[in-house]
Amino acid sequence: MEDLFRFSDEFGPARIIHIHYPSVALKAIVVVDNTACGAAVGGVRMAPDVSAEECFRLARAMTWKNAAAGLPHGGGKSVIFGDPRMAAAVKEQLVRAFADAIGDITDYVPGPDMGTDERCMAWIKEETGRAVGLPSAVGGIPLDEIGATGFGLAACVDVAREFIGLDLKGARVALQGFGAVGKHAARFLAEKGCVLVAASDTSGTLAAPSGLDVGALIALKEAGRPLREHGSGTRLPVDAILDVDCDIWIPAARPDVVRADNVSRLRARLMPQGANIPCTPEAEQVLHERGVLVVPDFIANAGGVICASMEYRGGTQRAAFEYIDERVRANTRAVLQESQRDKTLPRAAALKLAERRVRTAMQMRRWR
Ligand code: NAD
Repeated sequence: MEDLFRFSDEFGPARIIHIHYPSVALKAIVVVDNTACGAAVGGVRMAPDVSAEECFRLARAMTWKNAAAGLPHGGGKSVIFGDPRMAAAVKEQLVRAFADAIGDITDYVPGPDMGTDERCMAWIKEETGRAVGLPSAVGGIPLDEIGATGFGLAACVDVAREFIGLDLKGARVALQGFGAVGKHAARFLAEKGCVLVAASDTSGTLAAPSGLDVGALIALKEAGRPLREHGSGTRLPVDAILDVDCDIWIPAARPDVVRADNVSRLRARLMPQGANIPCTPEAEQVLHERGVLVVPDFIANAGGVICASMEYRGGTQRAAFEYIDERVRANTRAVLQESQRDKTLPRAAALKLAERRVRTAMQMRRWR
């Protein structure tokens, strides 16, 4: 009994649902964390090694991200146990079975996450009538294709730079991960005059102190080829991205990549977090003490969920970009000002902002 409630606190989770359909080998968990601000929006992750705890932590992160972004949504998340590279027909059957199982969890709206994509969301939408991150053919705004999160990251950088007196013309950027988030962040930052001095993917790190050609790297990745096949720059090992001398270091790949044991290698002044939980709490504390400005994930990378929320409410791509720009800028400024004033970590200031909104919404509810 106690064990099942080990994640519980004043905010949630409202429900943790375990799903098991033996006939199709479906095992899944849905966490509806907090719905005070509205129906919980959060991704469906497919991976063989996820846990209830990971699902809860991701659901809670969505509660804060959606609240901080001022969206009419609570936070939730789900995980389907399985290898996302399974045969397409098997995957479709599994995802449709999952959709059938969540049909009556009407306050949870699924979106894409690691291991699922817009096609999976189209199947879920057909089965349940609810999903975000849909293909444009069925009314979606293709948030990864248009670079919603990378656009928001560039807006975040544009505000954060004022707090450290950094001129974006010629500012040197290093990017870990050159996927949906990373490549668009590079593109939007290049438009502001930044120089991409290094980028990495699973194939390695590519570095050029005088700057890499962002357009050429994007074309290479879109052709399905790894960064190491690009003809220019120096090829280095994957984790050499940590050592790159730069002004802005952007994590846009995996969780916990900056830890107590490697944080001393970073040589940047600003870290807008594109990836979710890219730093351990210890590493984030060390960076703060060293004067590196870290803009926390749920403020800096909210562009994607803002776009998904716009889609859910029938908004246009243009309206989504306008809202991302306005909200990410305002939140970055508010969080960094509060953190400076109270001498706290930006993450603590960001949490205060999100918690305030969730608490206010909870006070208007009968059950809380
Ligand atoms: P993606 O799969 O499109 O791209 C990930 C990139 O990271 C790929 O280029 C991959 O080669 C690279 N990569 C993986 N492991 C690496 C490693 N160890 N070192 C260097 N590169 C590595 O994923 P994405 O959608 O760009 O998401 C990246 C991160 O951003 C994830 O943490 C995700 O949760 C987070 N995020 C994504 C969005 C979004 O809109 N897609 C929104 C918010 C947060």
